[in-house]
Amino acid sequence: MNEDLEEYLRTLLPQTKKWVKEIEQSARKDHIPIMDPVSMQFVTQLIQLQKPEAILEIGTAIGYSALRMAESYRHTKVTTIERDVDRYYQAKENVKRLNKERQIEIIYGDALDILPSLPHESYEMIFIDAAKGQYKHFFELSHSLLKNNGIILSDNVLFRGYVMNPENINHSRYNKMVKKLQEYNQFISGHPNYSTSIIPIGDGVAISIKM
Ligand code: SAH
Ligand code: MG
Repeated sequence: MNEDLEEYLRTLLPQTKKWVKEIEQSARKDHIPIMDPVSMQFVTQLIQLQKPEAILEIGTAIGYSALRMAESYRHTKVTTIERDVDRYYQAKENVKRLNKERQIEIIYGDALDILPSLPHESYEMIFIDAAKGQYKHFFELSHSLLKNNGIILSDNVLFRGYVMNPENINHSRYNKMVKKLQEYNQFISGHPNYSTSIIPIGDGVAISIKM
């Protein structure tokens, strides 16, 4: 993406709390791919507009986005799924430390196994931010869990600009993932039950509204 623009937008972000900076730093140090702060600010605003009672997140990592979503609207409840056991425990620790156990529930397991057991039409917002090759599966499994007029957000849909310019890919291990993301963007954009926009901030965020 345009790095000058990204950097400029970063300078305009509101001052965040100390814990936010701490988790951002520790994620950077441990190479944990948390959401970009500019996109995070945007998601915060969507939550403030939509005031969801219940949010489902697929891909907790260490709890950064779950905590920030919970903080955006104190009446919301976040359910979040993580399959990596170390990250699951780190997320639990962060949620406990920040006293957000009443607002955030973390489920350990593979979202592909967990999603079918979750209650139907219960979430106003679902945030997909896990294995990029599985986005279409996550979206399809999310459909029945989402209320009407609910929103599915998908992070990283432009993956480092490679989704638009696959000829720039410098690691062959990304080839398949980028192709999957291209298919995913087509799939959500053409989906008859959803209205989608792709916002080119951070690593690309898709917003799909259930009609
Ligand atoms: N949403 C987080 C970042 C998530 S990073 C934030 O912005 O703070 C992606 C996470 O998804 C990783 O921790 C990875 O272990 C997890 N993940 C990937 N595929 C998954 C799956 N099928 N089920 C559950 N978690 C998954
Ligand atoms: Mg992400």
